[in-house]
Amino acid sequence: MTTVSRAAVEQMVRAALLRHRPGGSMRGQGSARLIANISARHCHLDDGTLKILFGSDAKLTVMKPLYQAGAFASDQTVTIFGPRKQMISNLRVLGPLRDAPQVELAFSDARFLGIDAPVRISGNTAGSPGCFLVGPHGGLEIPEGVIRAARHVHMSPDEAQAHGVGEGDRMRLVVEGEQGGVLDDVVVRITPESKLEVHLDTDEGNAVDLVNAREVTLSTH
Ligand SMILES: [Zn+2]
Repeated sequence: MTTVSRAAVEQMVRAALLRHRPGGSMRGQGSARLIANISARHCHLDDGTLKILFGSDAKLTVMKPLYQAGAFASDQTVTIFGPRKQMISNLRVLGPLRDAPQVELAFSDARFLGIDAPVRISGNTAGSPGCFLVGPHGGLEIPEGVIRAARHVHMSPDEAQAHGVGEGDRMRLVVEGEQGGVLDDVVVRITPESKLEVHLDTDEGNAVDLVNAREVTLSTH
């Protein structure tokens, strides 16, 4: 008799569940409701930036775990300033720490701050605008890192296989409701730890009244 790890069992169960969905899609009676969440404006910090903003002994502390494993909203917040000195306070820092600071804004946030933030996949900040960040211990100007996160869907390799998509592919999100709509170009992002979840920014989510949606489905197109 062979021993099977808990992780392997969970993976098999996930794969089996996906196989039993018609067409591998999330559509249909009784299938799990696709999780689609609004990712409100936030920032990620690297260790050096954290220490400047919050002090040399600072650590991110968990306020609330997020749906993706290991990700969390921290207790820490910063204030962001744009070039015209407009500011947004209480910008939530999401953990864990990364290799470089990154600020993810909705279009209306960026417009308010006077920052021409490009739409990018998280982590791809080369050539993007910077901003000023201020925390309780200090402040700094980051030379780049302010983006509008491209709408995206997180998924595991099994979930990607079930949907017939690969890393970087684009899917269509249909939001059914009184003020629903269709969003194309939802970028597929696959890691072994990921769980199926769509992330829209606040402007996009509000435009299709995501919180009151009757049904949310993903498809290839
Ligand atoms: Zn995301």
